[in-house]
Amino acid sequence: MIYLDNNATTKVDPKVLEAMLPYFKDEYANPSSVYEFAKRSNHAVRDARGVIKDFFNAENEKEIIFTSCGSESANTAIRGVLNMNKSKRHIITSKVEHPCVLNLYSALEKEGYKVDYIGVNSNGELDLAQLESCIDSDTALVSIMYANNETGVIFPIEKISQIIKSKNPETKFFVDAVQVTGKIPIDVQATGVDLMSISGHKFHAPKGIGALYVNSKTLITPLIIGGHQERGKRAGTENVPYIVGMAKAAELAMDNLKHEATEVKRLRDKLEANILKNVFNARVNAGIMSRVPNTTNIGFEYIEGELILLHLSDLGICASSGSACTSGSLEPSHVLRAMNVPFTAIHGSIRFSLSKFTTEKEIDYVCEKMPSIIEKLTNISPFQEELQALKARNRN
Ligand code: PLP
Repeated sequence: MIYLDNNATTKVDPKVLEAMLPYFKDEYANPSSVYEFAKRSNHAVRDARGVIKDFFNAENEKEIIFTSCGSESANTAIRGVLNMNKSKRHIITSKVEHPCVLNLYSALEKEGYKVDYIGVNSNGELDLAQLESCIDSDTALVSIMYANNETGVIFPIEKISQIIKSKNPETKFFVDAVQVTGKIPIDVQATGVDLMSISGHKFHAPKGIGALYVNSKTLITPLIIGGHQERGKRAGTENVPYIVGMAKAAELAMDNLKHEATEVKRLRDKLEANILKNVFNARVNAGIMSRVPNTTNIGFEYIEGELILLHLSDLGICASSGSACTSGSLEPSHVLRAMNVPFTAIHGSIRFSLSKFTTEKEIDYVCEKMPSIIEKLTNISPFQEELQALKARNRN
């Protein structure tokens, strides 16, 4: 099997599993209990919090809340900020967010919030002028993702933060950083964000663990109400093995950043260049400058993406036709629509996302197989005239 769907989820690193195992077998105490046995669980959570603090480059461990996933972190951040500041009724996000933000914003709209959705251009870049013009004295929160899960396009978070704070210093800025963790360095202090979410299963920890950074100047209400855990910001007995696992994954991710920027990027670029060279109806759905190093989203014009995925799957190659949440439905990607990608390419768009476990041999195999798969599907496409015209145009 060749796994090129790492933006959907990643393989648990064996070193992460190894770090977790004692907390399933022997160290099962509740970290809140008072006896000596529980202190070891308690210290494991404390140490993990320190690692995650460093991962964010936060100032203080108290700014880290452990959650169950990226979606919970985003919901906690957004609802938590708004509940704390009920008089302000205007919120902003982008048109290309993950559903955990977009669907929450549409629920908030129904609850009476005024929402502005910021657009992107055909390279996937955010319209910063629109953002600037939208912020006013009633804006409670801006929520913008760090990098898009479908295209890999990175947004200029530091610049966005400056725009927000210069227009209204009281507006809170939440960043969904789920798709950048382990791919590029993150630094909440340098970028000046108020809240930031991550999810363990996107950087080789298991599914079911996430974290939220909330800076000490930002007050939030909890989403899950109950015990005193996470300083009253998220009730529920701490998931000690998963917290330990995510901290180990964060340590490994910090050590691996150079490899991501060089090797993973080299393999992604090789795959992309090869496909563009050998497939006449292929186009990259993104400006190629500012992207996470592991992702490429390629549109194959006039053919059906689901058919490409099935052919790849027959060869043991796993890729995706959008975010894992939208594939399975035939709804065209909201991200590619926001970028004005032609409909004829949206339906044939495939996302390949690599990881540190991707090998050159695997990429060579995909490079070898892609042209014949696309040629086969192109030959049975009902759009033969359009394809011939495209071929002629590309030749000139
Ligand atoms: N945000 C982004 C950008 C994502 O890609 C995802 C998952 O695909 C999420 C949030 C949700 O994370 P989780 O699956 O941990 O809830």
